[in-house]
Amino acid sequence: MCTTYVSAVLLDELKSYGYPIIGYPRLIRLNPFARYKTRGNGAVSFKVLVKSENEFDEIKSIILDRVEELSHLQEENTNPGVVFFTTKTDELNVEDLEIRLPTELKTYALETIENIVTIKDAEELADKIGAEIHKFKKGRGIIGALAAIGAPLNDKTFELLAYRMPDNYGTKRRLNYQSVRDMDAKTYPCTFDNLDEKEDYITIEPHTPCPILYGIRGETPKAVAAAHDMVKPCEQVEKTAVFLTNQHTDQHLVPVDSISQMEKFKCYIVTGIVAGNPHVIEGGHVILPIEDDTGCTECAAYEPTKGFREIFKELRKGDEIKVYGGIGEKGTLNVEKFELMGLAKDYKEVNPLCVCGKRMKSAGKNKGFKCVKCGRKLKDGSKVLVEIERGIQKGFYEVPPSARRHLSKPLVRFQRECKHK
Ligand SMILES: [Zn+2]
Repeated sequence: MCTTYVSAVLLDELKSYGYPIIGYPRLIRLNPFARYKTRGNGAVSFKVLVKSENEFDEIKSIILDRVEELSHLQEENTNPGVVFFTTKTDELNVEDLEIRLPTELKTYALETIENIVTIKDAEELADKIGAEIHKFKKGRGIIGALAAIGAPLNDKTFELLAYRMPDNYGTKRRLNYQSVRDMDAKTYPCTFDNLDEKEDYITIEPHTPCPILYGIRGETPKAVAAAHDMVKPCEQVEKTAVFLTNQHTDQHLVPVDSISQMEKFKCYIVTGIVAGNPHVIEGGHVILPIEDDTGCTECAAYEPTKGFREIFKELRKGDEIKVYGGIGEKGTLNVEKFELMGLAKDYKEVNPLCVCGKRMKSAGKNKGFKCVKCGRKLKDGSKVLVEIERGIQKGFYEVPPSARRHLSKPLVRFQRECKHK
Protein backbone atom coordinates (compact mmCIF):
# COMPACT_ATOMS: atom_id res chain seq x y z
CA MET A 1 0.00 0.00 0.00
CA CYS A 2 1.07 3.55 -0.68
CA THR A 3 3.07 4.62 2.39
CA THR A 4 1.87 8.20 2.21
CA TYR A 5 -1.75 7.04 2.25
CA VAL A 6 -1.28 4.77 5.27
CA SER A 7 0.39 7.73 6.99
CA ALA A 8 -2.41 10.12 6.06
CA VAL A 9 -4.95 7.67 7.51
CA LEU A 10 -2.88 7.35 10.69
CA LEU A 11 -2.46 11.09 11.09
CA ASP A 12 -6.23 11.64 10.83
CA GLU A 13 -6.85 8.85 13.30
CA LEU A 14 -4.30 10.08 15.85
CA LYS A 15 -5.66 13.63 15.56
CA SER A 16 -9.19 12.32 16.11
CA TYR A 17 -8.02 10.80 19.42
CA GLY A 18 -6.57 14.17 20.38
CA TYR A 19 -2.89 13.41 19.91
CA PRO A 20 -0.99 16.52 18.78
CA ILE A 21 1.00 16.05 15.58
CA ILE A 22 4.07 18.27 15.53
CA GLY A 23 4.89 19.99 12.27
CA TYR A 24 4.45 18.36 8.87
CA PRO A 25 4.83 14.65 8.21
CA ARG A 26 8.02 14.01 6.24
CA LEU A 27 8.20 12.11 2.97
CA ILE A 28 11.81 11.12 2.41
CA ARG A 29 12.96 9.64 -0.89
CA LEU A 30 15.89 7.25 -0.72
CA ASN A 31 18.46 6.00 -3.25
CA PRO A 32 16.57 5.53 -6.53
CA PHE A 33 18.92 2.64 -7.41
CA ALA A 34 18.31 0.55 -4.28
CA ARG A 35 17.62 -2.98 -5.46
CA TYR A 36 14.68 -3.86 -3.21
CA LYS A 37 13.03 -0.48 -3.33
CA THR A 38 9.36 0.18 -3.82
CA ARG A 39 8.50 2.21 -6.90
CA GLY A 40 9.29 5.65 -5.57
CA ASN A 41 11.52 4.42 -2.72
CA GLY A 42 9.87 6.75 -0.25
CA ALA A 43 9.45 6.54 3.52
CA VAL A 44 7.33 8.66 5.85
CA SER A 45 7.85 9.89 9.39
CA PHE A 46 5.85 12.12 11.70
CA LYS A 47 6.16 13.43 15.23
CA VAL A 48 3.52 12.91 17.89
CA LEU A 49 3.58 14.56 21.29
CA VAL A 50 3.10 11.86 23.94
CA LYS A 51 2.57 12.59 27.64
CA SER A 52 2.74 9.14 29.26
CA GLU A 53 3.76 5.52 28.77
CA ASN A 54 0.08 4.61 28.42
CA GLU A 55 -0.41 7.10 25.64
CA PHE A 56 2.68 5.79 23.91
CA ASP A 57 1.40 2.22 24.11
CA GLU A 58 -1.96 3.27 22.70
CA ILE A 59 -0.36 5.15 19.81
CA LYS A 60 1.88 2.21 19.02
CA SER A 61 -0.98 -0.24 18.86
CA ILE A 62 -3.08 2.10 16.66
CA ILE A 63 -0.18 2.48 14.24
CA LEU A 64 0.85 -1.18 14.11
CA ASP A 65 -2.77 -2.40 13.72
CA ARG A 66 -3.44 0.04 10.91
CA VAL A 67 -0.22 -0.76 9.04
CA GLU A 68 -0.96 -4.46 9.27
CA GLU A 69 -4.54 -3.94 8.13
CA LEU A 70 -3.79 -1.62 5.19
CA SER A 71 -0.59 -3.23 3.87
CA HIS A 72 -0.91 -5.69 1.01
CA LEU A 73 1.04 -8.29 2.95
CA GLN A 74 0.11 -11.08 0.54
CA GLU A 75 2.29 -9.43 -2.11
CA GLU A 76 5.80 -10.83 -2.19
CA ASN A 77 7.50 -7.46 -2.44
CA THR A 78 5.52 -5.87 0.37
CA ASN A 79 7.74 -5.97 3.46
CA PRO A 80 6.74 -3.00 5.61
CA GLY A 81 8.45 -1.75 8.72
CA VAL A 82 7.63 0.69 11.50
CA VAL A 83 10.11 2.43 13.79
CA PHE A 84 9.38 4.36 16.98
CA PHE A 85 11.99 6.74 18.29
CA THR A 86 11.29 8.71 21.44
CA THR A 87 13.04 11.74 22.75
CA LYS A 88 12.22 13.81 25.81
CA THR A 89 11.07 17.29 25.07
CA ASP A 90 9.70 20.46 26.51
CA GLU A 91 6.22 21.07 25.15
CA LEU A 92 7.07 24.67 24.38
CA ASN A 93 10.06 23.64 22.36
CA VAL A 94 8.75 20.84 20.21
CA GLU A 95 9.67 22.47 16.90
CA ASP A 96 13.38 21.85 17.44
CA LEU A 97 12.96 18.11 18.01
CA GLU A 98 14.81 17.38 14.81
CA ILE A 99 18.11 18.81 15.95
CA ARG A 100 18.14 16.55 19.02
CA LEU A 101 18.33 13.42 16.92
CA PRO A 102 21.51 11.39 17.37
CA THR A 103 24.25 12.28 14.88
CA GLU A 104 24.60 8.64 13.81
CA LEU A 105 20.92 8.60 12.83
CA LYS A 106 21.47 11.58 10.52
CA THR A 107 24.59 9.97 9.05
CA TYR A 108 22.67 6.74 8.51
CA ALA A 109 19.82 8.61 6.80
CA LEU A 110 22.23 10.19 4.31
CA GLU A 111 23.67 6.73 3.65
CA THR A 112 20.23 5.42 2.68
CA ILE A 113 19.84 8.31 0.24
CA GLU A 114 23.32 8.07 -1.29
CA ASN A 115 24.21 4.39 -0.81
CA ILE A 116 22.80 0.92 -0.29
CA VAL A 117 21.87 0.02 3.27
CA THR A 118 20.82 -3.40 4.57
CA ILE A 119 18.18 -4.47 7.10
CA LYS A 120 21.09 -5.50 9.35
CA ASP A 121 22.55 -1.97 9.20
CA ALA A 122 19.16 -0.60 10.23
CA GLU A 123 18.76 -3.09 13.06
CA GLU A 124 22.21 -2.37 14.44
CA LEU A 125 21.60 1.36 14.43
CA ALA A 126 18.14 0.99 16.02
CA ASP A 127 19.70 -1.08 18.76
CA LYS A 128 22.44 1.49 19.34
CA ILE A 129 20.17 4.54 19.55
CA GLY A 130 17.31 2.79 21.32
CA ALA A 131 14.76 2.93 18.51
CA GLU A 132 11.99 0.33 18.59
CA ILE A 133 11.57 -1.57 15.33
CA HIS A 134 8.60 -3.59 14.06
CA LYS A 135 9.04 -5.73 10.98
CA PHE A 136 6.21 -7.15 8.90
CA LYS A 137 7.46 -10.18 6.96
CA LYS A 138 11.04 -9.30 5.92
CA GLY A 139 10.47 -5.84 7.34
CA ARG A 140 12.56 -4.04 4.75
CA GLY A 141 10.56 -0.90 5.50
CA ILE A 142 12.53 -0.29 8.69
CA ILE A 143 15.48 0.84 6.56
CA GLY A 144 13.50 3.75 5.17
CA ALA A 145 11.48 4.39 8.33
CA LEU A 146 14.66 5.09 10.31
CA ALA A 147 15.94 7.29 7.49
CA ALA A 148 12.66 9.22 7.37
CA ILE A 149 13.06 10.05 11.07
CA GLY A 150 16.70 11.03 10.74
CA ALA A 151 17.17 12.68 7.35
CA PRO A 152 18.59 16.19 7.79
CA LEU A 153 16.97 18.61 5.35
CA ASN A 154 19.09 21.61 4.38
CA ASP A 155 16.83 22.09 1.41
CA LYS A 156 13.21 20.98 1.28
CA THR A 157 10.01 21.13 -0.74
CA PHE A 158 6.38 20.31 0.01
CA GLU A 159 3.92 17.98 -1.67
CA LEU A 160 0.17 18.05 -1.27
CA LEU A 161 -1.34 14.66 -1.99
CA ALA A 162 -5.04 14.25 -2.77
CA TYR A 163 -6.37 10.71 -2.34
CA ARG A 164 -9.18 8.97 -4.24
CA MET A 165 -12.24 7.30 -2.78
CA PRO A 166 -11.24 3.62 -2.35
CA ASP A 167 -14.02 2.54 -4.75
CA ASN A 168 -12.23 4.40 -7.53
CA TYR A 169 -8.82 2.74 -7.09
CA GLY A 170 -7.60 1.26 -10.33
CA THR A 171 -10.04 3.20 -12.51
CA LYS A 172 -9.06 6.04 -14.83
CA ARG A 173 -8.48 9.23 -12.88
CA ARG A 174 -10.91 12.03 -13.63
CA LEU A 175 -9.31 15.44 -13.46
CA ASN A 176 -10.14 18.62 -15.29
CA TYR A 177 -6.84 19.06 -17.16
CA GLN A 178 -7.57 22.65 -18.09
CA SER A 179 -7.81 23.50 -14.37
CA VAL A 180 -4.32 22.00 -13.93
CA ARG A 181 -2.98 24.19 -16.77
CA ASP A 182 -4.62 27.26 -15.21
CA MET A 183 -3.23 26.34 -11.79
CA ASP A 184 0.26 25.98 -13.27
CA ALA A 185 0.00 29.34 -15.02
CA LYS A 186 -0.96 31.01 -11.73
CA THR A 187 1.37 29.25 -9.28
CA TYR A 188 4.56 28.28 -11.18
CA PRO A 189 7.37 28.37 -10.07
CA CYS A 190 6.10 28.35 -6.44
CA THR A 191 4.71 25.00 -7.56
CA PHE A 192 6.54 23.07 -10.28
CA ASP A 193 6.42 19.92 -12.38
CA ASN A 194 2.65 20.19 -12.71
CA LEU A 195 2.69 19.42 -16.39
CA ASP A 196 4.93 18.81 -19.34
CA GLU A 197 3.98 21.46 -21.84
CA LYS A 198 6.00 20.04 -24.70
CA GLU A 199 4.63 16.54 -24.25
CA ASP A 200 1.13 17.78 -23.35
CA TYR A 201 1.27 15.55 -20.27
CA ILE A 202 -0.23 16.21 -16.82
CA THR A 203 2.50 15.34 -14.34
CA ILE A 204 0.56 15.78 -11.07
CA GLU A 205 -1.47 12.66 -11.91
CA PRO A 206 0.24 9.32 -11.16
CA HIS A 207 0.05 6.59 -13.77
CA THR A 208 -0.06 3.65 -11.38
CA PRO A 209 -3.12 2.09 -9.68
CA CYS A 210 -2.35 3.78 -6.33
CA PRO A 211 -4.73 5.74 -4.03
CA ILE A 212 -3.30 9.10 -5.14
CA LEU A 213 -5.47 11.24 -7.40
CA TYR A 214 -2.82 13.90 -7.75
CA GLY A 215 0.23 15.35 -6.04
CA ILE A 216 1.22 19.01 -6.22
CA ARG A 217 4.84 19.86 -5.53
CA GLY A 218 5.96 23.26 -4.43
CA GLU A 219 8.15 25.49 -2.32
CA THR A 220 5.80 26.15 0.60
CA PRO A 221 2.68 24.63 2.22
CA LYS A 222 0.82 27.80 1.24
CA ALA A 223 1.76 27.43 -2.43
CA VAL A 224 0.64 23.80 -2.70
CA ALA A 225 -2.60 24.53 -0.82
CA ALA A 226 -3.42 27.46 -3.11
CA ALA A 227 -2.70 25.29 -6.15
CA HIS A 228 -4.89 22.49 -4.77
CA ASP A 229 -7.80 24.96 -4.49
CA MET A 230 -7.48 25.70 -8.22
CA VAL A 231 -7.47 22.09 -9.42
CA LYS A 232 -10.90 20.75 -10.30
CA PRO A 233 -11.20 16.99 -9.83
CA CYS A 234 -14.16 15.29 -11.51
CA GLU A 235 -14.28 12.63 -8.81
CA GLN A 236 -14.50 12.87 -5.03
CA VAL A 237 -11.31 13.43 -3.05
CA GLU A 238 -11.26 11.26 0.08
CA LYS A 239 -8.60 13.23 1.95
CA THR A 240 -5.52 15.35 1.44
CA ALA A 241 -2.20 15.55 3.26
CA VAL A 242 0.77 17.90 2.96
CA PHE A 243 4.23 16.39 3.34
CA LEU A 244 7.56 18.08 3.91
CA THR A 245 10.01 16.30 1.62
CA ASN A 246 13.52 16.00 0.26
CA GLN A 247 12.04 15.69 -3.22
CA HIS A 248 13.64 17.89 -5.87
CA THR A 249 16.62 18.85 -3.71
CA ASP A 250 19.37 16.73 -5.38
CA GLN A 251 20.08 15.19 -1.98
CA HIS A 252 20.93 11.89 -3.72
CA LEU A 253 23.81 13.36 -5.74
CA VAL A 254 27.39 13.06 -4.52
CA PRO A 255 29.90 15.40 -6.17
CA VAL A 256 33.06 13.55 -7.24
CA ASP A 257 36.36 14.79 -8.69
CA SER A 258 36.88 11.99 -11.16
CA ILE A 259 35.02 9.46 -13.25
CA SER A 260 36.91 6.54 -11.66
CA GLN A 261 35.40 7.35 -8.25
CA MET A 262 31.90 6.43 -9.43
CA GLU A 263 30.20 3.11 -8.62
CA LYS A 264 27.05 1.34 -9.69
CA PHE A 265 23.75 2.08 -7.92
CA LYS A 266 24.77 5.56 -6.79
CA CYS A 267 24.17 9.07 -8.05
CA TYR A 268 26.76 11.72 -8.79
CA ILE A 269 27.75 15.10 -10.10
CA VAL A 270 30.79 14.57 -12.32
CA THR A 271 32.63 16.61 -14.92
CA GLY A 272 34.11 15.10 -18.08
CA ILE A 273 35.05 15.70 -21.68
CA VAL A 274 32.81 14.23 -24.35
CA ALA A 275 34.86 11.41 -25.90
CA GLY A 276 32.80 10.77 -29.02
CA ASN A 277 29.70 12.01 -30.76
CA PRO A 278 26.32 10.81 -29.43
CA HIS A 279 24.74 7.74 -30.98
CA VAL A 280 21.24 6.30 -30.84
CA ILE A 281 20.74 2.68 -29.75
CA GLU A 282 17.76 0.34 -30.02
CA GLY A 283 14.76 1.70 -28.17
CA GLY A 284 15.61 5.28 -29.09
CA HIS A 285 18.05 5.84 -26.23
CA VAL A 286 20.92 8.25 -26.86
CA ILE A 287 24.37 7.27 -25.60
CA LEU A 288 27.33 9.60 -25.12
CA PRO A 289 30.82 8.64 -23.87
CA ILE A 290 32.65 11.00 -21.52
CA GLU A 291 36.17 10.76 -20.14
CA ASP A 292 38.73 12.38 -17.89
CA ASP A 293 42.30 11.53 -16.83
CA THR A 294 41.06 8.67 -14.66
CA GLY A 295 38.65 6.83 -16.90
CA CYS A 296 35.59 6.95 -19.07
CA THR A 297 31.89 6.18 -18.80
CA GLU A 298 28.82 6.15 -20.99
CA CYS A 299 26.07 8.66 -20.32
CA ALA A 300 22.52 7.95 -21.44
CA ALA A 301 19.43 9.97 -22.24
CA TYR A 302 16.79 7.26 -22.25
CA GLU A 303 13.69 7.18 -24.43
CA PRO A 304 11.33 8.42 -21.66
CA THR A 305 13.32 11.66 -21.52
CA LYS A 306 11.69 12.48 -24.90
CA GLY A 307 12.78 15.89 -26.24
CA PHE A 308 15.81 16.00 -23.94
CA ARG A 309 17.39 13.43 -26.26
CA GLU A 310 17.41 15.97 -29.09
CA ILE A 311 19.43 18.37 -26.92
CA PHE A 312 21.74 15.53 -25.91
CA LYS A 313 22.35 14.70 -29.57
CA GLU A 314 23.79 18.19 -30.07
CA LEU A 315 26.80 17.40 -27.86
CA ARG A 316 30.09 16.80 -29.66
CA LYS A 317 33.45 15.20 -29.00
CA GLY A 318 35.56 17.63 -27.00
CA ASP A 319 32.69 19.39 -25.17
CA GLU A 320 33.15 19.81 -21.43
CA ILE A 321 30.05 18.81 -19.46
CA LYS A 322 29.05 18.48 -15.83
CA VAL A 323 26.62 15.59 -15.55
CA TYR A 324 24.03 15.10 -12.78
CA GLY A 325 22.76 11.52 -12.69
CA GLY A 326 22.90 7.97 -11.37
CA ILE A 327 24.49 4.70 -12.42
CA GLY A 328 22.15 1.75 -12.91
CA GLU A 329 22.56 -1.99 -13.34
CA LYS A 330 24.20 -1.65 -16.76
CA GLY A 331 26.83 0.77 -15.50
CA THR A 332 25.55 3.62 -17.64
CA LEU A 333 25.20 7.08 -16.13
CA ASN A 334 21.51 8.08 -16.45
CA VAL A 335 21.52 11.80 -17.05
CA GLU A 336 19.03 13.90 -15.06
CA LYS A 337 20.52 17.21 -16.15
CA PHE A 338 23.83 18.58 -17.37
CA GLU A 339 25.73 21.81 -17.65
CA LEU A 340 27.52 22.42 -20.93
CA MET A 341 30.63 24.24 -19.74
CA GLY A 342 32.87 24.23 -22.80
CA LEU A 343 31.97 23.94 -26.47
CA ALA A 344 34.24 22.12 -28.91
CA LYS A 345 34.34 23.17 -32.54
CA ASP A 346 32.12 21.16 -34.85
CA TYR A 347 32.94 20.40 -38.45
CA LYS A 348 31.32 18.91 -41.47
CA GLU A 349 32.85 17.39 -44.60
CA VAL A 350 32.32 19.35 -47.80
CA ASN A 351 33.70 19.27 -51.35
CA PRO A 352 36.83 21.37 -51.87
CA LEU A 353 36.72 24.92 -53.19
CA CYS A 354 37.81 25.51 -56.78
CA VAL A 355 40.57 28.09 -57.39
CA CYS A 356 37.83 30.25 -58.94
CA GLY A 357 36.09 30.34 -55.59
CA LYS A 358 33.15 28.07 -56.39
CA ARG A 359 32.45 24.95 -54.31
CA MET A 360 33.21 21.96 -56.56
CA LYS A 361 30.85 19.13 -57.36
CA SER A 362 31.60 15.43 -57.28
CA ALA A 363 32.69 14.09 -60.63
CA GLY A 364 31.33 10.67 -59.79
CA LYS A 365 32.46 7.91 -57.47
CA ASN A 366 36.29 7.91 -57.11
CA LYS A 367 36.57 10.39 -59.97
CA GLY A 368 37.39 13.46 -57.95
CA PHE A 369 35.67 16.81 -58.31
CA LYS A 370 34.73 19.23 -61.05
CA CYS A 371 33.79 22.86 -61.13
CA VAL A 372 30.51 23.75 -62.82
CA LYS A 373 31.56 27.38 -63.16
CA CYS A 374 35.01 27.19 -64.81
CA GLY A 375 35.20 23.54 -65.74
CA ARG A 376 38.40 22.72 -63.80
CA LYS A 377 38.80 19.16 -62.59
CA LEU A 378 40.46 17.86 -59.44
CA LYS A 379 41.21 14.17 -59.82
CA ASP A 380 43.00 13.46 -56.55
CA GLY A 381 41.13 15.91 -54.38
CA SER A 382 39.39 14.88 -51.18
CA LYS A 383 36.67 16.34 -49.06
CA VAL A 384 37.63 19.06 -46.62
CA LEU A 385 36.38 19.90 -43.10
CA VAL A 386 34.72 23.24 -42.47
CA GLU A 387 33.66 24.53 -39.08
CA ILE A 388 29.92 24.72 -38.58
CA GLU A 389 27.79 26.53 -36.06
CA ARG A 390 26.85 24.47 -33.00
CA GLY A 391 23.20 23.66 -32.37
CA ILE A 392 23.57 24.22 -28.62
CA GLN A 393 24.92 26.89 -26.26
CA LYS A 394 26.71 26.77 -22.92
CA GLY A 395 24.30 26.40 -20.02
CA PHE A 396 22.09 23.97 -18.09
CA TYR A 397 19.75 21.43 -19.68
CA GLU A 398 17.34 19.05 -17.92
CA VAL A 399 14.95 16.19 -18.59
CA PRO A 400 11.24 17.13 -18.85
CA PRO A 401 9.03 16.93 -15.73
CA SER A 402 7.46 13.66 -16.95
CA ALA A 403 10.89 11.97 -16.77
CA ARG A 404 12.18 13.65 -13.64
CA ARG A 405 13.24 11.57 -10.63
CA HIS A 406 11.58 12.43 -7.32
CA LEU A 407 14.87 13.61 -5.87
CA SER A 408 16.10 15.52 -8.91
CA LYS A 409 16.19 19.29 -8.50
CA PRO A 410 14.55 21.15 -11.40
CA LEU A 411 16.54 24.03 -12.86
CA VAL A 412 13.84 26.50 -11.88
CA ARG A 413 14.69 25.80 -8.24
CA PHE A 414 18.34 26.77 -8.85
CA GLN A 415 17.23 29.93 -10.57
CA ARG A 416 14.87 30.87 -7.76
CA GLU A 417 17.59 30.38 -5.21
CA CYS A 418 19.87 32.70 -7.12
CA LYS A 419 17.20 35.37 -7.39
CA HIS A 420 16.54 35.39 -3.67
CA LYS A 421 20.14 35.57 -2.50
ZN1 LIG B 1 36.07 26.85 -60.77
